Amino acid sequence: MYADVAVCLPLSRTFVYRLNEPVHAGCRVLVPFRRREVEGFVVGLRKDPPSGIAIHDVQKVLDSEPLIRPDVFELCQWISDYYLAPPGEVLKSALPPGISAKHVEKHVAGIAGTVCDRTNAPSLTADQARVLNLIEQSNGFHAILLHGVTGSGKTEVYLRAVESFLARGKTALVLVPEIGLTPQLTERFAERFPGRTAVLHSSLTKRRRIDDWLRIYHGEAPVVIGTRSAVFAPLRNLGLIVVDEEHETSYKQEEMPRYHARDTAVMRAKFGGAVAVLGSATPSMESFRNAEGKKYTYTAISNRVEDRPLPDVEIVNMREEYSAAGKQVVFSRRLIEAVALRLERGEQTMLLLNRRGYAAFLLCRHCGFTFQCTSCSVAMTFHRSIDKLVCHYCGEAKRPPSRCPDCNSEYIYYVGEGTERLEAELRQIFQEARIGRIDRDTMRHIRDYERVLGGFRKGEIDILVGTQMIAKGHDFPRVTLVGVIGADGPLSLPDFRAAERTFQLLTQVAGRSGRGDSPGEVVIQAYVPDHYTFQLACTHRFEDFYAHESRYRKAMFYPPFASLAGITVLDRDPARAATLARDVGKFLDSVKTPAVRILGPAPAPVERIKSVHRHQLLIKSSSRTVLHRMLKQLQQHLEDNKVGATRVIVDVDPVSLM
Ligand code: ADP
Ligand code: ZN
Ligand code: ZN
Repeated sequence: MYADVAVCLPLSRTFVYRLNEPVHAGCRVLVPFRRREVEGFVVGLRKDPPSGIAIHDVQKVLDSEPLIRPDVFELCQWISDYYLAPPGEVLKSALPPGISAKHVEKHVAGIAGTVCDRTNAPSLTADQARVLNLIEQSNGFHAILLHGVTGSGKTEVYLRAVESFLARGKTALVLVPEIGLTPQLTERFAERFPGRTAVLHSSLTKRRRIDDWLRIYHGEAPVVIGTRSAVFAPLRNLGLIVVDEEHETSYKQEEMPRYHARDTAVMRAKFGGAVAVLGSATPSMESFRNAEGKKYTYTAISNRVEDRPLPDVEIVNMREEYSAAGKQVVFSRRLIEAVALRLERGEQTMLLLNRRGYAAFLLCRHCGFTFQCTSCSVAMTFHRSIDKLVCHYCGEAKRPPSRCPDCNSEYIYYVGEGTERLEAELRQIFQEARIGRIDRDTMRHIRDYERVLGGFRKGEIDILVGTQMIAKGHDFPRVTLVGVIGADGPLSLPDFRAAERTFQLLTQVAGRSGRGDSPGEVVIQAYVPDHYTFQLACTHRFEDFYAHESRYRKAMFYPPFASLAGITVLDRDPARAATLARDVGKFLDSVKTPAVRILGPAPAPVERIKSVHRHQLLIKSSSRTVLHRMLKQLQQHLEDNKVGATRVIVDVDPVSLM
C-alpha cells in the first residue's frame, strides 16, 4: 500500500510514500523528506504508486487511530483549498501541540457533571424566546445572524440554545474572540454546565490543552468554549456553533494557516448539518451582506434587557477645545466634568484610547526629525514607566535622547498621547480617584486582567483606562460613563475597513455604559466630529451606517461586494523584494480576466518590519471562482520557480492590510 502524505511544512502538494503496515487516513506518520525526517498526515491511500519517481518508505506510524475526526478532516481540506494553506500545516493546527497516541490511550475517564444548573438563569424575555425558538426549529444546517444591541441578552440565548442541544444528545461549540478579555462569559457557561464545559485557548499550558482536548475527544465535555483554533475541537455530534462578537478581527489567523474562524465555523456547521449562530451588536459588513442575500437568516433584538435605554452619546469637537485652551489638551472640559460627576455619585467610568505607551512619538521641533525604529519603518512609542522608546512591531527599546541626533537641538517634543499618559494626567486632575489601567503593557498574564477587572467589578476602582481591550463584552452594571479619546485616529489608517472598525469600536464601547439601573452616557472626543461614522454611531443607527458604507464599498469594489486576496512579498533585500513583487504582478496580469482588478505592487503601508521589506498586491474580483483559480495558478507558478510560501504570502479574505 501507498499513502499520500501531507507533510507539516509550508508546501501545497502531498507526497507518496510506501507503507509497510496498515494505516488509516488521518493518522500521523514520520517520513523522510529532503534528507530530514518530518511529521505528516496520511490524507489518502492507494494501491499503485505513481510511475517514474522514486518512492520512499514511511518511517514510522505515529497513531493507530486518527486523532482528527472525519468532519474535522473534511474541514481541514476545505481550509487548505479555500485559503490556499499547506494541508499538513492545517491538519497540524487542528491538534493540540505535543499530543500523542499514548495520551489518548492513557486517558482516564472523568466524572460527567450535572446536565445543567439553572439556579441563576433568568426567565427569557419575549425577544430572547423568539430567537431561541428560531435556533431550536432549525433542521440541519442553518446559519443565523443574531444582531442584538449590547446588553440585549444574547449570552443568555446562547446558554439556552446550548442546553437545548445537549438535551437532544448533541454537543455545542462557542467561539469567543479572546478568552482573557471575557472571563465572565466563560464563567457563565462553566456555571450553567458544571463539569461538562471545556475551555480551549492558546495561553493554557501544553498539558492543560491536551487534557481539555482529551475530555472533548472522549465525550466528557460536550460544551466547548474557545478562541479561533477551537473551531477544530474534536466534538462528536456537533449540533450548535455560536460565534460571539462575530465581527471581531481576532477571528482571523494572521499566520499560516490564515483562516477566518467565523467563516470556517459556518463551513463546519455546513459539513456536519449543525446550526451556526453568529452574534454581534455590530455585525461585520460581510455577515450583514450574507443576511441580506438570504445566505444567513437575520434576526434582531433591538432593545436592552428590562428596557434599559441605550446610552446618550455626545461628540466633543477637540478643535474647539484647542482654541479654548490655546494648546493641545488630552481631556475636554465636558469629559472632565462628566468624570467628576461620576466620582461624586460613586459611579464608575471607563476611558478608552487605542494606543498604549505615553507618547506616540518624539519629534524635534527644530528640524522635524522623528525617532524611527532601526528595523521597522514606524515611529517608536515613548513609555515613561521604563523611560524608553519602544517599537510596537519588533519590541526594540532604547533610551530617548535629550538632544536631537540630527540637529542637536534640545526642542524634543512628545506628541500624541497613549494610555500611560492618560492615566498620569487623570491622577493629577483627580487625586483622590482610584484608577486602573488595562493595556498590553500592564497586562502580562490572564491573572492581571482578572485582578484589575475583578477590582473594577467589586468597586475598588473608580476609573478604568485602557485600549480596545476594555471595549469587549464586559458587563459592569455600575459604569455610567464611557469616554473615548482620539476617536478619529484610526480613520486615517490606510485601510478600507477603517470606518467600519471605528463604528464597531464606538458602538461596543458605548455598550459598556448604563448596563445597570442608572442610565449611561458616552463622550467621544474627535477632531473631525462630522464624520458620518461618528454621527451614526452616536444615534445607534447600524442600518444607516451599513447603507452608507455599502455605497462606498460598491463604488470602490471592496468586500463584501467583491472577493479580495492580499499578497505580501517579503525579502530582507529591498531590491529583491521589489523585483519579486513585480514578477508576481506580471504573472497575475498574464492570467487575469475582466472580472479581476489588481492593485499594486506597491510598498506595504508598513514597509519594513524586523528588517524585512514588504511589498503588497491586492486582487479584487467579482467572481470568487476566478479569484481562487488565479491564486492556484500563482501558487503553482511560484512552486515551479522555487519561491517558498514564506516569501510570498497569500491571504484570502484579508482583514489587515498593514
Ligand atoms: P449581551 O450578551 O447581549 O450583551 P447579556 O446576555 O450579557 O447581553 O445580558 C445583559 C445583562 O442582562 C446581563 O447582566 C444578564 O444577566 C441580564 N439578562 C439577560 N437576560 C435576562 C433576562 N431575560 N432577564 C433579566 N436579566 C437578563
Ligand atoms: Zn532636530
Ligand atoms: Zn521595530
